[in-house]
Amino acid sequence: MNGTGHRILIVEDEQPMRRFLRTALAARELSVIEADSIRAARIATTAHLPDVILLDLGLPDGDGIDFTRELREWNQVPIVVISARGREEDKVMALDAGADDYLTKPFGIDELMARIRVALRHRAILQSGAAQEPILEIGPIRIDIARREVYNAGQIVILTPIEYRLLLYFARNAGRVLTHRQILKEVWGSAYAHQTHTLRVFMTQLRRKLELDPTIPRLFKTETGIGYRMRD
Ligand code: CA
Repeated sequence: MNGTGHRILIVEDEQPMRRFLRTALAARELSVIEADSIRAARIATTAHLPDVILLDLGLPDGDGIDFTRELREWNQVPIVVISARGREEDKVMALDAGADDYLTKPFGIDELMARIRVALRHRAILQSGAAQEPILEIGPIRIDIARREVYNAGQIVILTPIEYRLLLYFARNAGRVLTHRQILKEVWGSAYAHQTHTLRVFMTQLRRKLELDPTIPRLFKTETGIGYRMRD
């Protein structure tokens, strides 16, 4: 992968888990920094400027979700939560707090690498302003932002203004899980943050227009109880 040389900060208090991650990431030529508490993570973030943070939630001196909120006040480094907490509420809370992604323990290293790759790409987009590029391509979907045109496998697709904004938000965050609340706030505005039903209606429309088979979505995956993820 082209994550070579990137710095990954592992925030995890369980030593065997840290060792497992360190070995796996180092084998993929990522450079690894470790922290076993929130205090150590705070120092490491400032001292080493990591490219991605892997964050456990249950830490000896506090909760990873609080740390995520704190960090987001001054730092946009992608955070991938790695936690044994598998409840939907926990995931939604972490994502709404500003985490990029969430993996429930135990997870495979390939899945972790895929999430790190998406996080690194998102970071590159944030840094370079590539999100403002005139053309976005995700799988068969091509979005010509300047002309406000959408093509699916070369065929033009007519979208309503809301559908278009929805698609654009997904495309700029391809590969990332977005919570219902995040999508509603971004596309409709803060007053609509809880209108999950509205979102569901528009997702059905978007899938009908863009998915090969809307009953088996491949472009827009449902993350049950959390939100949606567009493929990358
Ligand atoms: Ca822990």
